[in-house]
Amino acid sequence: MTHHTHLPIELLSVRGNKVLDLLPFRQRAVDGAVLISNDFGDHLFLSNDEYKAILHGDLANDDPLRDRLKAGNFLARELDRDAITARLQEKYRFLRAGPSLHIFVVTLRCNHTCQYCHASRARMDQPDVDMSIETAERCVDFAFETTSPSLTIEFQGGEPLANWPVVEHIIEYARQKNALAGKSLMFALVTNLSLMDEEKLAYLIDRRVQICTSLDGPADLHDGQRIWKDGKSHDTTVDWIHRINQHYVEAGMDPHLYHIEALPTITRQTLKRGHELVEHYANLGCRSIFLRNLDPFGWGAAVKNRLGYTMEDFLAFYRDTFLHIVEMNRNGQDMVERTAALLFSKIIGNVEPNYLDIRSPCGAGIGQLAYNHDGRLFTCDEGRMVDRSGDDCFQIGQVGTDNYREVVSSPTVRSMVMASTLEGQPGCANCVYKPWCGVCPVHNYCEQGSIHGRMADSTYCQKHMGIFDFLMERIHRADPFEMALFQRWATPRGQPHYVHEAEAL
Ligand code: SF4
Ligand code: SF4
Repeated sequence: MTHHTHLPIELLSVRGNKVLDLLPFRQRAVDGAVLISNDFGDHLFLSNDEYKAILHGDLANDDPLRDRLKAGNFLARELDRDAITARLQEKYRFLRAGPSLHIFVVTLRCNHTCQYCHASRARMDQPDVDMSIETAERCVDFAFETTSPSLTIEFQGGEPLANWPVVEHIIEYARQKNALAGKSLMFALVTNLSLMDEEKLAYLIDRRVQICTSLDGPADLHDGQRIWKDGKSHDTTVDWIHRINQHYVEAGMDPHLYHIEALPTITRQTLKRGHELVEHYANLGCRSIFLRNLDPFGWGAAVKNRLGYTMEDFLAFYRDTFLHIVEMNRNGQDMVERTAALLFSKIIGNVEPNYLDIRSPCGAGIGQLAYNHDGRLFTCDEGRMVDRSGDDCFQIGQVGTDNYREVVSSPTVRSMVMASTLEGQPGCANCVYKPWCGVCPVHNYCEQGSIHGRMADSTYCQKHMGIFDFLMERIHRADPFEMALFQRWATPRGQPHYVHEAEAL
């Protein structure tokens, strides 16, 4: 891998009179071509000869490559500065508002003992791990201090339905506050569905709460990982997936846009069964799947040996499953792979999806906050999980005592912003994927002992570099069907049904 920017303009100009006023770019060999990108997020594939020609400034005035460079905003004198300024303002719009995602851990209790989740749960009979009504109100008060015009409260756990009265209370209290605050308010619930019943569901549908669940694949795979000693986890989950989707259909809502979201956790057992996994999702009416790797932090050696895998193995799984998803689409089955969709929206859609973990700077403290059941505040949910293993370095305050401004501008948040701003990271600053990538200080801290990572031997970078290389190769080789598919994935559609504007209650 080589990293260097363009030759200085003065050097180019002495090579001949066809001066190319190239703006800084980064490059990498991909799929037999040279990929170049700039800070605005544009890219071009060049042949080796074209690349040499631009390095030497050796390009005739009527060479069509000039037009491609101009269209890609690589030529300083041809740049439409107003258009670029507007684009960058849009791309970094998130910097002008405070945290929009507020993760509420309403309890640590859970009736499942999933193999990969020992650290973040408590037994159902364990006391003192539920959020109280009083703490819940202080958390909502704190969340409403955000300067962001949109505000999502996401219920997490443990299993949030194990503390149902507090979930309900938070929703009602937040709606009341919003009558005055007038934010675009959304609620999301991450649940294993095992404690769902018709009454709760009717309430959640009525309050337009987005519902997300976990589904690890066919029954044997799912039940082997998501252990529930009092029931059949897979069958229960699937049953509720059907019922919830049916509610949306009966309400006349577009099933492409409104359906329960399901997320798989990919373990070593999943790696051999990628095709089966996506087909299982498709058969259940799911139209997207998020192929995310598992971060095995804080695991004992035994669990790691049973569930863990190398990043090479994950990338091989990702590539193979992605290609299968493209084939399914070719055969008429709608299915989106969400990591690719996120990255395509940045690379070819020119849209910033504001996904907080692949963004520069990342969302820690400036895009999201996590609220522990006891009212302690963390930079993000991953930072809270580090606290569960006994290290509170990502704690940034306590609701009820600490002031919003002090929390979001605390030294910890500032450090996280610095550590996740790619321009300041050796390795990333010169990487061709920098315009679309993001790093995770919590991951760096857990893997390498410092929030400032060493990208050369980081598995986080290895994953992103591997996925970017693969997706860029797919873009480079795409036939018209694939290009149209990728364009479709790159165009996010909003879900206005879930948004509560200030309502008269
Ligand atoms: S994390 Fe890796 S792939 Fe991403 S910008 Fe940094 S060096 Fe490039
Ligand atoms: S520190 Fe990591 S997990 Fe936390 S918001 Fe940043 S990228 Fe996400």
